[in-house]
Amino acid sequence: MQWESVIGLEVHVQLNTKSKIFSAGATAYGAEPNTQACAIDLAMPGVLPVLNKEALRMALKFGLAINAKLNSPAVFARKNYFYPDLPKGYQISQLDTPIVGTGALDIVLEDGRKKTINITRAHLEEDAGKSLHEDFQGMSGIDLNRAGVPLLEIVSEPEMRSAKEAVAYLKALYALVTYLGICDGNMQEGSFRCDANVSVRPVGQKEFGTRTETKNVNSFRFVEKAINHEIERQINVIEEGGTIIQETRLFDADKNETRSMRSKGNANDYRYFPDPDLLPVIVEPVMLEELRAQLPELPWQKQARFISEFSLSEYDANVLVSNQDLAQYFEAVVKATQAPAKQAANWVMGDLSAALNRDSLEITHSPVSAKQLAGLLDRIQDNTISGKIAKTVFEAMWQGEGDADAIIAAKGLKQVTDTGEIETVIDAVIANNPQQLADYKSGKDRLFGFFVGEVMKASKGKANPGQVNELLKQKL
Ligand code: ADP
Ligand code: MG
Repeated sequence: MQWESVIGLEVHVQLNTKSKIFSAGATAYGAEPNTQACAIDLAMPGVLPVLNKEALRMALKFGLAINAKLNSPAVFARKNYFYPDLPKGYQISQLDTPIVGTGALDIVLEDGRKKTINITRAHLEEDAGKSLHEDFQGMSGIDLNRAGVPLLEIVSEPEMRSAKEAVAYLKALYALVTYLGICDGNMQEGSFRCDANVSVRPVGQKEFGTRTETKNVNSFRFVEKAINHEIERQINVIEEGGTIIQETRLFDADKNETRSMRSKGNANDYRYFPDPDLLPVIVEPVMLEELRAQLPELPWQKQARFISEFSLSEYDANVLVSNQDLAQYFEAVVKATQAPAKQAANWVMGDLSAALNRDSLEITHSPVSAKQLAGLLDRIQDNTISGKIAKTVFEAMWQGEGDADAIIAAKGLKQVTDTGEIETVIDAVIANNPQQLADYKSGKDRLFGFFVGEVMKASKGKANPGQVNELLKQKL
């Protein structure tokens, strides 16, 4: 049997407002437990929530960017459930009329293909507190600092068909909310996390299978792993004659598996009803126009510009714009170098990204500045060094040994372009390899590569490769 997977994501984006969504409590991360929970966050009797206008503006910016239908009036609703970290006994969220209705986001797949993912809704809600289990013996602690932190929950249609598509969607969304400046993008601190809804069905079947929901995955790599694991698990269960239960699961990154957490309720179990303490939100057109005017260049607009301005491929441009800081770095390199933009793109996405990954650094903390990288590209461009030697120079720059020019001078890495000097090396190589020479002359053309390699080795990689080829051809 051939199976097809169906994936829909619910993404929780923490909005980076200074204060909470319904109170003046601070939202800064990492404070001592319960030092940022005010009477409203603690659900003291008689307190009243007041909507944070900045949170509303951020949600609207998102809605405008994805061309969504915006609801006015939008209504807040109480979602009732018990949990120790939820003192009110309900979470203020939205159900029937979320602030942001249907919209869409385009994603670019690895083969350069584009796909539109429809977004069902994006609603404002408050985060709950946190139960702390470490540091307490036989007890749990409750930290309500997070209670009331504003979230934008973005719900997609079940339109993704593989873990790779889901990750591409998630990355596109991440780029968007960080470009918009509505989220700090810190995934480790949980500012951008996702619930992955996954089901499988036989290829050709129209109806969806039963879905499970894997909660709170907060890295792109884990999302891909969790989804792939869940697809495989569901197929195994069904092929062994079992059925999938609609449930909430947890991803265990250490064991690379998902585990059942609880069976999942339906919306009506929460007894949602409009919150009588909050007025419906009416958005005036003038506010929308003001917000629209504030929208920055969006990822897909930047991508289109990179393609037309720098002749990059769709895929390269997509990788570069996926991170605003990376895009900015790339543009700074292009501006400062004589080398073609494509070469700058290759270095940024290749050697630079690899080194950042290796040392777990963000681009904003790159030991090699955009200007320094531009300086290196200039030396390749004017034939001072070969592309291969450039890698050595780059590594030295990374280690803090100075600019490209200083390193090239100090290490004597300047490319040899003096014909006479190269000829001397070639003569020596030919003289030292009489057997290979004889074989080459008797028709083993492949040995040409051997001679090129020997000459490059003898010149410690410094001979100009083009000249080596040319001169060797003559000499042999
Ligand atoms: P809930 O809060 O109960 O999880 P939501 O409507 O907020 O419900 O989210 C449902 C999510 O599950 C959406 O992202 C939707 O695309 C996805 N989904 C719904 N049905 C399926 C299915 N059969 N397989 C995979 N994903 C699904
Ligand atoms: Mg859900």
